[in-house]
Amino acid sequence: MMTKEQYIASLRTLHLNLYRFGKKVENVVDDPIVRPSLNSFAATYELAEDPQYEDLMTATSNLTGKKINRFTHLHQSTDDLIRKVKMQRLLGQKTAACFQRCVGLDAANAVYSTTYETDEACKTQYHENFVKFWTEVQNNDWAVDGAMTDVKGDRGLSPSQQADPDLFLHVVERTPDGVYVTGAKAHQTGYLNSHYVLVMPTISMRKGDEDYAISFACPTDAEGITLILGRQSCDTRKTEEYNDIDVGNKVYGGHEVLVIFDRVFIPNEMIFLNGEVEFAGMMVERFAGYHRQSYGGCKVGVGDVLIGATALATEMAGCAKASHVKDKIIEMTHLNETLYCCGIACSSQGTKTKSGNYLIDLLLANVCKQNVTRFPYEIARLAQDLAGGLMVTQPSEADYRNPATHDYIEKYLKGVASVPTEDRMRVLRLIENMTMGTAAVGYLPESMHGAGSPQAQRIMIARQSNLDMKKKLAKEIARIK
Ligand code: SF4
Ligand code: FE
Repeated sequence: MMTKEQYIASLRTLHLNLYRFGKKVENVVDDPIVRPSLNSFAATYELAEDPQYEDLMTATSNLTGKKINRFTHLHQSTDDLIRKVKMQRLLGQKTAACFQRCVGLDAANAVYSTTYETDEACKTQYHENFVKFWTEVQNNDWAVDGAMTDVKGDRGLSPSQQADPDLFLHVVERTPDGVYVTGAKAHQTGYLNSHYVLVMPTISMRKGDEDYAISFACPTDAEGITLILGRQSCDTRKTEEYNDIDVGNKVYGGHEVLVIFDRVFIPNEMIFLNGEVEFAGMMVERFAGYHRQSYGGCKVGVGDVLIGATALATEMAGCAKASHVKDKIIEMTHLNETLYCCGIACSSQGTKTKSGNYLIDLLLANVCKQNVTRFPYEIARLAQDLAGGLMVTQPSEADYRNPATHDYIEKYLKGVASVPTEDRMRVLRLIENMTMGTAAVGYLPESMHGAGSPQAQRIMIARQSNLDMKKKLAKEIARIK
C-alpha cells in the first residue's frame, strides 16, 4: 500500500490538462482551490497506515491474497459490505467532506460482476481484462475515479437520437487495436486526485445504441482529455490573504470536474464493455446501488461533524440546556442514524454475484439513498436554526485581524464568557461551510443528485417492491378468493 506521502508524490507525476477560472492550472497538486480535496483523498491512504483502523481500512485481496486498501477491495462477504460503510462513516468524520475514493471502489465492484455475466452470455473476455487491470490497481494502490454521468443533452431522446452525437460518450472509430472515444462525463468527483478513470455507460441501452454501450479504463492524463473544474460557493475564500477562519474547514474539501474526451484511444485490453447493449443497464444499476449504499456511510460521518458543531455552537451561546435545543439535537441524531441504519441494512442483506463478489440489497440501497435526498437537508436546517444568524452575518477574518476592529469583534461577538470569541467564530464558519459553503456541495446537492437523483431511486424502488406478493398477502387476510 502507498503511504500518504507516496500518494501525493505520485500525483505530481500526472500531466492533467486542467482549467479553472479561465486559466490553465500548471500545478494541480498545490493549487489552493483543489488542494483541500486532495487532502481528503489522501486521508484514505493515511488512515490505512494507522494500526487502530486496520480492520476497517484494509482487506485481503481475493485476486492476489495480499493486504490491500479497502478502497480497492472486491467485497467477499456481507461483512465486507458492512465494513465499507463503517469505513466511509469514519472518513466522513475525519474530513467533514467528500473523500472521493468510493466512486472507483463502487465502479470496480459493479464492473467486476457485470463483465463476468457479459462474458458468460456473449463469449467476450472483458472479465479477464478487468481482473488484469484491477490487480495492477490493487498492487500499486492506485486511486481510481469512477465515471458514469453523461451530460445527456435532451433528456427526452436516447443517446443515438441526440442532435449532437457527443452528448453521450461514444465510440467514434474502431481499429484492430482498440477504439477512439469522444464525449464528456459531468460532475466527476475526485478526478484530479486519481491515477485512472473507470468509465461506464450512464443509462440502460437498446439496439441502435451500441457505440454508447462502452466501458473502459484509461489514465486520467491520457491524450485527448480536457478537464474544467466546477465552481463551489465561497471557493475563492481559499485564496484570500486570511484563509483560516472564514473557510470553515481549512484542511479538507471535495471537488467535481467536467471531463471531456476528444478522440481518446482505448486499447482492447482496457475495454470492459463494447456494444453489448443488454448489459449496460446491469452495470448502471449495480454501480448506482453500491454508491447509494455508500451514502449511508459517508454522509452520516459528515452529519456527525455537523451535529457536533451545532451542539458546540449552542454551548458557546449558553443555550444548550434549553429543552427545544436538546430536542433538535436529538432529532438531528435520529435522522443521521436512520441513514446509517439503511447503509448497514442494505449491506447485511447483500448477496453473492455469479463472479463471487457481493452485491448490496438493491431495494434497501435505494431506500437508503432516497432518505439521503431528504434527511441531510433537515439536519442542515436544524443546524442553521440552532447556530443563529451570526453564522452568516459575522465579520470576516480580515476584520478580526485588523487592530482597528479586532477589539470590538472580540467584545461584541462573545457568547459564554469563558469561551474565546475566535472559537465561536470558527464553529459558526464550520456550520456555514457545511450548509452553504464549499462543503455544502457534498453534503446537500450531492445528497440530492449524487448516485442518481431522487426519481431514479423511486423507479428502482417500484421495480423491486414486489407489489403482487403484497396484494396476495392482503387477499389472504381479507379472505378474498
Ligand atoms: Fe464517497 Fe460519499 Fe464522496 Fe461518494 S459522496 S465519493 S460516497 S465520500
Ligand atoms: Fe458522490
